[in-house]
Amino acid sequence: MEQNNWINDTMHCHSLEDALAIQFGNNTRIAKTRRIHGGDINQAFELELQDGMCLFLKANTKEHLSFFTAEAAGLAAIAGTDTIRTPEILGKGTVEEDGGYSFLLMEFVGEKQRRHDFWETFACELAAMHQAGTDGLVPGGNYGFFQDNYIGASRQQNTAYGSWIPFFCNCRLKPQLQKAAHYCNPGVKEKIPVLLGRAKEILIEPDKPSLLHGDLWSGNFITGKDHTAWLIDPAAYVGHAEADLAMTELFGGFPKAFYDAYQTAAPLAPGYKSRRDLYNLYHLLNHLNLFGKSYLPSVERMIANILNA
Ligand code: ADP
Repeated sequence: MEQNNWINDTMHCHSLEDALAIQFGNNTRIAKTRRIHGGDINQAFELELQDGMCLFLKANTKEHLSFFTAEAAGLAAIAGTDTIRTPEILGKGTVEEDGGYSFLLMEFVGEKQRRHDFWETFACELAAMHQAGTDGLVPGGNYGFFQDNYIGASRQQNTAYGSWIPFFCNCRLKPQLQKAAHYCNPGVKEKIPVLLGRAKEILIEPDKPSLLHGDLWSGNFITGKDHTAWLIDPAAYVGHAEADLAMTELFGGFPKAFYDAYQTAAPLAPGYKSRRDLYNLYHLLNHLNLFGKSYLPSVERMIANILNA
């Protein structure tokens, strides 16, 4: 797999102007800036250059540069599979002026028109990404990623493991369960070791490791100029492909055409549905830890489903 500058993180700018100059020449100027709403973590903007070209900018405080380093590395890893489109990264850096901020600059993506077989194409491209090689992405192991990253604003551990099940238990479920323990009544807290034991019984090792988007819900793909789905805002790591599929089902799900096409391209192993809840428990716990106890009833219901399955 080709590793580009973003995986090695060699490009860093000290002003937005520098990033624009590197990409488009010294006299590049921003003509208009428009705020974009919809993200949970960062401020987002559409920048229009003097020649009418539009760019997408995310900004946060200087201390949050690591969000953008991680996002750029995830997008580069996905782009490196050459299977599904992602916006091109155009610059990243920290700025001292204007109170200081960090930024990530990328191609603006935002077509309205989807191709007629949008969902089938999306599923086939995602399956191809899951089947792509993962060489170089997890030094010293098969599962994890070459750097830690973020799921929402929570740190996501990507320590290299040789096998999927211990990776998922130790780097995904356990840290979120421990963080959420103070929300839960003692009955639930006592179930943590039982739940981790159950995970070891329910989960299966994949045939091969897959690069995952890692946070694949309907807010994390947009329609590109070729009218297909482009992946954005990944929490990428190498894991079991079915964890990505599970996440697509957590908040309402994608249309049936997507799942049918994925199943044809890369059939899921029997028993997927019983594993799906465990994968999604990770994301629900993360929501509980980030956004508070309105997520507690869903977490408790999911834990009960897993333990009673
Ligand atoms: P956050 O990191 O805060 O979660 P998102 O990645 O979700 O931010 O992006 C915020 C908003 O910007 C969303 O509405 C998303 O659809 C849109 N967006 C993200 N990437 C691009 C892009 N490359 N081009 C145009 N719009 C984008």
